[in-house]
Amino acid sequence: MSQDGYYIRDSTIGGQAAGKGFFSNRDLTGGEPIAIIQRPLMASLESERLKDTCANCYVWTEGSAIGSRLYVKRGITVQMCAGCKRFRYCSKACQKEAWNRGHKHECKNLKPVADKELPKAVLGCMEILVRRKQGLIDDQTWQLLCHLDSHIDDFKANGNYDGIELMAMGTSQFSATQDTFNKDFVAQMYARILSNSMTLVTPTFEPLGILIDALLCHINHSCHPNTYIVMDGPQMQLRALRDIKKDEELFISYVDPTMPYLRRQSELEQRWFFACKCSKCQQGIASQEDDWARKLASLTTHNRELANEEIKRAQDHSVGEPSDEQRLATLQEKTFNSYEEAQQQSDPAEAIRTIEGAIAFCTESNLWLAHHQPLPALRDELIVNMLAVGNYEGAWFECAKRHRHAMPKLYPQIHHPIRVVQTWRMAMLAQYLASTGTEVAVGADMALIAAMLINTISVTSRMSHGPDNAFTKSVQLKFSEVEGELLGRFGSEDAMNAAIQRQVKLLSEMGK
Ligand SMILES: [Zn+2]
Ligand SMILES: [Zn+2]
Ligand SMILES: [Zn+2]
Repeated sequence: MSQDGYYIRDSTIGGQAAGKGFFSNRDLTGGEPIAIIQRPLMASLESERLKDTCANCYVWTEGSAIGSRLYVKRGITVQMCAGCKRFRYCSKACQKEAWNRGHKHECKNLKPVADKELPKAVLGCMEILVRRKQGLIDDQTWQLLCHLDSHIDDFKANGNYDGIELMAMGTSQFSATQDTFNKDFVAQMYARILSNSMTLVTPTFEPLGILIDALLCHINHSCHPNTYIVMDGPQMQLRALRDIKKDEELFISYVDPTMPYLRRQSELEQRWFFACKCSKCQQGIASQEDDWARKLASLTTHNRELANEEIKRAQDHSVGEPSDEQRLATLQEKTFNSYEEAQQQSDPAEAIRTIEGAIAFCTESNLWLAHHQPLPALRDELIVNMLAVGNYEGAWFECAKRHRHAMPKLYPQIHHPIRVVQTWRMAMLAQYLASTGTEVAVGADMALIAAMLINTISVTSRMSHGPDNAFTKSVQLKFSEVEGELLGRFGSEDAMNAAIQRQVKLLSEMGK
């Protein structure tokens, strides 16, 4: 750990004791690194990603089929461990590092179950138990880890404990640690992983698996976070999202903080077992996430009838006349159901139909503001699916709308990592459209628009991800390419700036 900008002490959230928390030890500026961890205690890849991702440095290979991979290094392949036939590595050095970190003590146990798919939490738990048994996790880290709440009683209450016990039995057996840890302890550790793990992601936030870090998992949650974590392979950086005063508590968000109040509360309750009392949740439905377009006006007769129908469908007995607040919540829920349905649909054309239906509902109801979820989430999903079916022009206009309406509200900081990554995808799409010579709109110069966006990201990515992150480096590389090209095209800086002004205006119009 280096560049430590924090200390740990007891925390109070919404007037209640909240265990230990992280606090800033100096004034911090938005975009500044607070803590760097070279590798979390444990990270475990999704079954799908085990096939195409290095299990040591988490580098993606070209064959990997998910997402729009933005900076995959060329020519990288992964080789399977000849022993367990489960993990793959990009180099001898990576294999050796993983071997010495603990794999040598579990490889032969995994061999007999090579053809069995094991959940990532089981593999992660095995790794932790094996390494502790072999003395490869020090006492201080171990105590920090064991200090994380296992939520065993919550799992017993929600009926999931039997499943956990079963998984823990397998974990004990495959890791050959029965002689060191009893069955209750393993169940607790497994539950601890389920209820404390964060998502292992690429620098552009595509999910790869789960991770546990004994230290970083102690940072408290807020739906109005002042910090975030970016990753680069196994390296994790905690960075300031906005300016932070000395002795302020540092928070990350465990859930998507752009979601409405009731959604956040229920997700935190179900997955993390707590009722959030953060500064945003204390406002209830009065914060921006719950803004409706017709806040002051009452619902139209049509919307009221629609909501009444939905409420009737959800309840088999009438509980009196619903309030407009209940009606709005119901319409919001209906739209979230469409969003979740679209996410389940594997055929992109089918998903597009579902999403377009839901977006049309939001628009026609006149209730949704552009930043009110799930409207922006529907749009994100629409862009992904349009790209999947090759509708690049359609995807472009959706990107332009997102850029104009949703982004500044949802991610107000120019260096917000999600904003930076979304702008980057947009720049890559503009570049692609320029290369195909598509006339997207009259007078639109897609190459110039791409260059403008890349120029912005070349500055903001240094703040969002730090100058050494693989993503930032690939942005810089791209920037040096377009920078030279542009000046050559326009001759003078004045001519270039005048052209840029015209395109900025056009870009905004395309997002209407
Ligand atoms: Zn590697
Ligand atoms: Zn192996
Ligand atoms: Zn909250």
